[in-house]
Amino acid sequence: MIRSVKSYIGLERESGVEEFFSTEPAARCATNAADAVSVDSELGRLKREVSECHACKLAKTRLNVVFGAGNPRAGLMFVGEAPGSEEDKQGLPFVGRAGQLLTKIIEAMDLRREDVYIANLLKCRPPENRPPLPEEIQACRENVRRQIAIIKPKVICTLGKFASQMLLKTETTIGELRGNLYEYEGIKVMPTYHPAYLLRNPHDKKLVWKDMKKIKKLL
Ligand code: SF4
Repeated sequence: MIRSVKSYIGLERESGVEEFFSTEPAARCATNAADAVSVDSELGRLKREVSECHACKLAKTRLNVVFGAGNPRAGLMFVGEAPGSEEDKQGLPFVGRAGQLLTKIIEAMDLRREDVYIANLLKCRPPENRPPLPEEIQACRENVRRQIAIIKPKVICTLGKFASQMLLKTETTIGELRGNLYEYEGIKVMPTYHPAYLLRNPHDKKLVWKDMKKIKKLL
C-alpha cells in the first residue's frame, strides 16, 4: 500500500501537483491511491498489447498505433473515429487541424486536454483517411471497450457517426443522435459532430456547443 501511495504521489508530481491536502482518513486516501495506480497499470498493459496488434490490415500501413492520451481517471472521455496523417506520424490522437478545434472546444468547457481522455475507435490510420471499414471496426472494438472499462469515465462524448453508431449499436444518423443522451455500460453518452466535420461546416459549431453545455452539467 505504501508503494502504491508513493507511486501515486510520483504521478501527481509529474502532472504538476506540489501539495496534498486531505480531510479523508488515511486508509481511504491509501485505497484511492492504490485504485489510481491500478488504473495506470491496467491502461499501460492494454497500451502495450494494442501497440503490437495486427488484427486487421491497417497494421501493415500504419506508422504508429494511436492508443489514446490524457487523464486515465478523467470524468470525460472523447471517442473519435480514427487517426489521420498527423496523428499517425506522432502517435497521438487529435493533433491535426481537427484536434486543434477539439482543444478549443475542451478549453471552452473550462477544461484542459490533460483533464480529459481522448481516444479513437480505430487505433491505426486508414489509408488516405478513408472511412473505417466494418471489419476494421469489428477488429478494434474490443480495444476501445477495454479502454473505456478501465477509465470508467462519467460521460463519453462520441465524435461523429462511426464512434456513436458503434458504441450505441445503432444505424441512426449522427444528425439524429447528436444532442441526446444515451447510455453505454452504465456510462452516459453524448454523441456530437466530429471536429473534422465542423471544419467543413462551421455553422454547426453552435450545435456542438449546446451538446458540450449538457456534458458540463453532467460533470
Ligand atoms: S486498427 Fe485496431 S484492430 Fe486494426 S491493427 Fe490497429 S489496433 Fe489492431
